Amino acid sequence: MARPKPPLSGPHPLELSGDVMREMVALAMDHIVPHIESLPEQPMHATRGGKRLARLLRERLPERGTPYEKLLRRLFGKVIPMSLNTASPGYMGYIPGGGLFHAAVADLIADAVNRYVGVFQAAPLLVQIEADVISWFCAMLGLPEGSGGILTTGGSLANLVAVITARRDRLPPDFLRGTLYASEEAHHSVKKAALLAGFPPEAVREIPVDGRFRMRPDAAAEVVARDRARGLSPFLLVASAGTTGTGAVDDLRALADLAVAERLWLHVDAAYGGFFALTERGRAAMRGIERADSVTLDPHKSLFLPYGTGCLAVRDREALRRAHAVSASYMPPMQAEDDLVDFCELGPELSRDARGLRVWLPLKMHGASVFRAALDEKLTLARGAADALRRTAHIEVAAEPELSLLAFRARPPGIEDGPPLDALNRRLLARVNAKQRVLLTGVRAGGRLLLRMCILSFRTHADRVDAAIADIAASLAEVLEESRDGGLEPARGQEQPGGEDDD
Ligand SMILES: *Cc1c(COP(=O)(O)O)cnc(C)c1O
Repeated sequence: MARPKPPLSGPHPLELSGDVMREMVALAMDHIVPHIESLPEQPMHATRGGKRLARLLRERLPERGTPYEKLLRRLFGKVIPMSLNTASPGYMGYIPGGGLFHAAVADLIADAVNRYVGVFQAAPLLVQIEADVISWFCAMLGLPEGSGGILTTGGSLANLVAVITARRDRLPPDFLRGTLYASEEAHHSVKKAALLAGFPPEAVREIPVDGRFRMRPDAAAEVVARDRARGLSPFLLVASAGTTGTGAVDDLRALADLAVAERLWLHVDAAYGGFFALTERGRAAMRGIERADSVTLDPHKSLFLPYGTGCLAVRDREALRRAHAVSASYMPPMQAEDDLVDFCELGPELSRDARGLRVWLPLKMHGASVFRAALDEKLTLARGAADALRRTAHIEVAAEPELSLLAFRARPPGIEDGPPLDALNRRLLARVNAKQRVLLTGVRAGGRLLLRMCILSFRTHADRVDAAIADIAASLAEVLEESRDGGLEPARGQEQPGGEDDD
């Protein structure tokens, strides 16, 4: 039976009736549920023609409304399908997360009630829920009493707040002699953060990595000493707990020792790997993270949330306050007690969404044990994938999974290392992705093109990892067959999917 369709007009059309609100959500759900249920069968990527269709989509601000159902049909029929299927169980490119539906419901609640969480007084209990979430994260990392942090929109913003906080904590107001240190495999948001924080590009020192793509502490120590001798002011050491390229976890204990010896702020970028600290194997891999001054986490990666949630956890919450607190007479009073928090004093934002709920709801509904088990499954799957690739002819595993990300490449005999081998691997990547069962991405590391597999979606299980291994083996056979026939199609100029276009 068709649902009644209450009108969207009237004297105050923006004030929806109860029936209309229910109807809106129900109709959205009529599209969302089939979409999510069909994720495993949907193609992994469908962005061909994106430029042309994006241009066709452009329109002026409409003066009159369009029926809601028509808009839903356009979104789900046309707009959303033209994309990388980042929510699919087969998505192993970049860093997946999946996107828990629970968080979408939490967002609906948070947005619908529209409470203000920038200051404690405006919604003490909602603010406390968010503060609790952050204290859970601090405890997970092993940070002591007095630690705290903020939820951001992602890891890049968390890294920015970390760099600014370290700068305020360790350097004078005239800070341009300051230098910071990160490995050449560190995420590019570290450099961006330094630039946004006012440093020139040369202030960011890229430290070489070892054979496992980990920052070399000895090299870092040397560069720091040399900079100090030149009258510069080393102030920040950025370690990675799971690099984006190959999943490398830096030796956090050695880097913590260096930070202490050189009085550097130690920031650990754990945007990819951080929540593996919930598991025993993850904690072992990231030993030393508890000694960090600050840690970037991305709940929209290893806590499986939808995009839009990052976190900066800081050992000394007061350092965040010193870097961000600014007062104004029109603001309500801030909390003086240590155990209460006004988030506007700890970060760059004032008004913002109540983003704590999207973390809190799934963790409260399931408990940490369910997340721990899911993360443990990913660790096991990644080890299994590395073993299977090692048994595959002509494949070499270039980066073993420290957590759930591994990198490999084809290395058949008779093809010269360097551009010819890179070209072959680029074709292999394109072949694997063309099969549309999994989506992998590439990276250039150690001067070579590597294919990477990041197993992190809560939807990814053994069946899809097996499919990935089968598709890699079959694709390599096809690519080798082609090169034997001499019918080499020209190597695609790109290492990443989604850029292909027909115009
Ligand atoms: C993803 C990632 C970032 C950036 O996080 P966003 O949420 O994309 O802004 C930073 N560092 C590492 C190691 C990452 O994997």
